Amino acid sequence: MSAPEFNAKSDAAPDFTEGQPVRRMPLHNKILIGLLIGIVLGLAANRVGQVPKGIDHPADLNANGLHDSVEWVATNLTEPAGKIFLRLMFMVVLPLVFSALALAVVEIGDVRRLGKLGARTLLFTAILSSSAVVLGIALVDTIKPGTKLSAENRDALVKQFATGAAAVDKNAKSAKPLRDLLVDMLPENPLQEMVGAIDGSSKGNGMLAVMVFSLIFGAAITTVPGKCAVLISWLEGWNAIAMVVIGWAMRLAPFGAACLVFTVTARLGFDILVTLLWFVLTVLAGLGLHLVVTYPVVLTVFSRMTPAQFFRGAKEAMLVAFGTSSSNATLPTAIKVAETDLRLPKEISRFVLTVGATGNQNGTALYEGVVVLFMAQVFGIELGLSQQIQVVLMSILAGIGTAGVPGGSLPLIVVLMMQFDIPGAGIGIIIGVDRLLDMCRTVLNVTGDLVVATCVSSGESKT
Ligand code: ASP
Repeated sequence: MSAPEFNAKSDAAPDFTEGQPVRRMPLHNKILIGLLIGIVLGLAANRVGQVPKGIDHPADLNANGLHDSVEWVATNLTEPAGKIFLRLMFMVVLPLVFSALALAVVEIGDVRRLGKLGARTLLFTAILSSSAVVLGIALVDTIKPGTKLSAENRDALVKQFATGAAAVDKNAKSAKPLRDLLVDMLPENPLQEMVGAIDGSSKGNGMLAVMVFSLIFGAAITTVPGKCAVLISWLEGWNAIAMVVIGWAMRLAPFGAACLVFTVTARLGFDILVTLLWFVLTVLAGLGLHLVVTYPVVLTVFSRMTPAQFFRGAKEAMLVAFGTSSSNATLPTAIKVAETDLRLPKEISRFVLTVGATGNQNGTALYEGVVVLFMAQVFGIELGLSQQIQVVLMSILAGIGTAGVPGGSLPLIVVLMMQFDIPGAGIGIIIGVDRLLDMCRTVLNVTGDLVVATCVSSGESKT
């Protein structure tokens, strides 16, 4: 059966009105414009909404020090609009993950080929994630952003974001030991895991457990294909429907992404970025270098695509990742981009991208390493070489375990901090900038998945 069409009409396809071809603006340009409008209006609203210091208007001010009217627009207009866009995508993530992975295994067919594919995916994930964390840690050691934050600002931030920090801390405390994490990869009750994978209420490993179930389900189908013809078309139907709903959601993407970034920037503004300037610069430098140096090098060595071709093809998924801060929500776009723009083989890209949305998070791994070292510097805790190596390994594992949702890495960061005796409440220091940096690291997470899919595909077609 043929691959489901992502969008009824190609975005760049010409429309013919009274004999005149009218070129439509490509979707990625529309999303980019939406993002820029959202950022500019959000920052402007934050500026206008700030009541000048020294003037007392307690009745009109909310906890962020913003005028109520700005908060009203964010709470009642842009936040719900952004959530509608996100939910249109989230609602089909589970059927998509389940059907895409099971179908990929069915199409790959041969367990040995699947094993090779899995091993290559793991190898590239390890290369990209470890180089990301090492790069991040080298930058923190060189720039030392933690020593540049005054004790006064540190205490003020911990106080301002204490409520958010307490919520993250509570989640982190319920984190399980590694042994249980491994056992829970195999779900006892797959349906329960599916329900809990998105809202975080799962008892096991959520999305990872759903993936393992889908892989086993697909592998089992390959052993009795004659009996499963109906089941296979049922899976193809789910997959096609998920892609159609995503196609509808993507029509809202320029507006939805604008609303999401407006809400974040209107509430947080620019000032917090200045207070944490060195930390923000360190994270952005790490993410930027990984994007423009590591990825092109890996693509040049391990694939037959030039970095320019790759980035031209990947840009739509990168923009959606920036707007949504969620690898899971961007998964359908990444799958579509891999098939139509990068022209990767369907069964390989489906497999690698679906596993990668949760398992390969280079930007998040880099961020987790940087935050732990930054916090150690802020609290004056000396981490020697062997402890830094531990941070690298744990950040890579934490990157694999992080849910592909906005802020998914925060509870894991607290777990890492506690391993090194850094107070968990310290997470409050970075919560204010986390959402903005989340947009950037998610771009890396999604781009990294596409890099792995490209390299694995090149390797497959050579053999
Ligand atoms: N938002 C990230 C993602 O979805 C996860 C994280 O780093 O918080 O990929």
